[in-house]
Amino acid sequence: MTAPTRSRLTVLSGPAGVGKSSVVSYLRDHDPRIWHSVSVTTRPQRPGEVDGVAYRFVSVEDFERMVADGELLEQAQYAGNFYGTPRAPVQQMLAAGVPVLLEIEIHGARQIRQIDPDALLVFLAPPSWEELERRLKGRGTESPDVIARRLAQARTELAAESEFDEVIVNTSVADAAQQLGRLIGG
Ligand code: 5GP
Repeated sequence: MTAPTRSRLTVLSGPAGVGKSSVVSYLRDHDPRIWHSVSVTTRPQRPGEVDGVAYRFVSVEDFERMVADGELLEQAQYAGNFYGTPRAPVQQMLAAGVPVLLEIEIHGARQIRQIDPDALLVFLAPPSWEELERRLKGRGTESPDVIARRLAQARTELAAESEFDEVIVNTSVADAAQQLGRLIGG
């Protein structure tokens, strides 16, 4: 028996509010070939989020311990909270030949580029800035100062589009997810 070929790592990035998690959950429901990494975060759990599904919610102390122990493949601070990708499950899945998808912000995507030059970096872009602004304000779960910080961050993130291998415009979640599935499928 031959060993499975190491699979490719795909990163989906783009500004918060662009709909990355909707695209990923559509893909999860429609394309079972792909394994989606569950990140750890120190941000508070939002209503409806299940621990271990959307994220693993951890304390700042636990997060710092994971960083110190080298347990995270990449990590970033975003709008005052920490986020990171647990290293071991990603490596296990890739070694087993399973395509892996990370849904992370731009700084994490840059770290992955350094670690794994073969990784495919996909940028999910909004149809327009006005549409992104509407989506960020419309979520209704965050305070005005959190929204203002996210808008400022989103402007910076949009400028990073040219660093990515592929750009998908999120005009429809189903279309964007299918495009992403085709890119991962090679
Ligand atoms: P949210 O708090 O809205 O769920 O996520 C905020 C941002 O953090 C989003 O852009 C999301 O893609 C990103 N993010 C989620 N998990 C990770 C991770 O493990 N690493 C990095 N670098 N960013 C992440």
